[in-house]
Amino acid sequence: KQVPIIGLVMNDRGFISRVLCPKFGGYLTFGSLEKGKESAPSQPTAADLINVYNIRQIGPDTKVFGIIGNPVGHSKSPILHNEAFRSVGLNAVYVPFLVDDLAKFLSTYSSPDFAGFSCTIPHKEAAVRCCDEVDPIARDIGAVNTIIRKPDGKLVGYNTDYVGAISAIEDGIRATQQTHSTVSPLAGRLFVVIGAGGAGKALAYGAKEKGARVVIANRTFARAQELGNLIGGPALTLTELENYHPEEGMILANTTAIGMHPNVNETPLSKQALKSYAVVFDAVYTPKETRLLREAAECGATVVSGLEMFIRQAMGQFEHFTGMPAAPDSLMRDIVLRKT
Ligand code: NAP
Repeated sequence: KQVPIIGLVMNDRGFISRVLCPKFGGYLTFGSLEKGKESAPSQPTAADLINVYNIRQIGPDTKVFGIIGNPVGHSKSPILHNEAFRSVGLNAVYVPFLVDDLAKFLSTYSSPDFAGFSCTIPHKEAAVRCCDEVDPIARDIGAVNTIIRKPDGKLVGYNTDYVGAISAIEDGIRATQQTHSTVSPLAGRLFVVIGAGGAGKALAYGAKEKGARVVIANRTFARAQELGNLIGGPALTLTELENYHPEEGMILANTTAIGMHPNVNETPLSKQALKSYAVVFDAVYTPKETRLLREAAECGATVVSGLEMFIRQAMGQFEHFTGMPAAPDSLMRDIVLRKT
């Protein structure tokens, strides 16, 4: 450019231009004074530009991270990661990338400035194919939720959903036990996964790795069979699951979106059927207490919230993004609990 340029792109796809313009020499950006007072669609508030995106600190050297998804506007990840970056003094910003075609996006945003990405619905499976290297567990799961650009430009994929969910369930069980055994409390347990999508695969692989006997139930039975075959466990229909109680003390993990806001009155399994479960986990985290978790608690089960998985998968991503050995645990936990 020969003269100062104000280049802002409209709508959801253009949102990043409003945040990243100081990095690329834009003369100014602006935000609305209040939510609801925007002069154009997807305009951020001035308060969010300053407080969430830390706009005053963004410059040519700022590294860019972000969440790739569709839809992505509702994601809490920008609030979480930007505050975590700020807490450790990292010159980085984290933005929402509304993406239709992951391969095209990655080949377009290919400069070293775009240093890492979170990956969410519907791109986690395509991300396995788009990375140059994939962590073996993420490859087995068939889903990547974290992409890092190495200094040589190669993209490396990881899955932090798996560790986040499984460690949350293990710690939920350990909190009710007196022992400090190093053996996983999932070992030997019958572990029922509802759903066979990205989260279902992560939970099924994780539970199997910890020595659980895994059963898959899914709306589309063929997908339950496919995942069951991969991990060596039986498959059920959702109707069969209603009458499935081969033993007491089973663990249930819902990995479907059933019960997610706004459908908060829906639940994947009747309260009657929940009585056979000692532990119930729900990947859904909006609302924090789903109908499934409320009814499971009423039946006396130990319940583990999807919010705990969300916090832990984000901490895993932070560690990959920054190379730091440990994410700011209590800060990230506090942000998520405050904002959800
Ligand atoms: P996905 O790959 O699209 O898989 C969705 C799964 O849910 C499929 O098995 C699908 O069954 C099933 N399903 C969807 N709607 C259903 C319905 N109305 N009735 C019965 N089954 C239904 O999605 P995902 O990435 O696994 O995510 C699934 C859920 O987990 C979402 O709510 C997501 O927000 C949540 N999640 C939470 C975290 C966290 O950190 N807490 C992380 C990842 C995901 P079919 O095979 O029959 O289509």
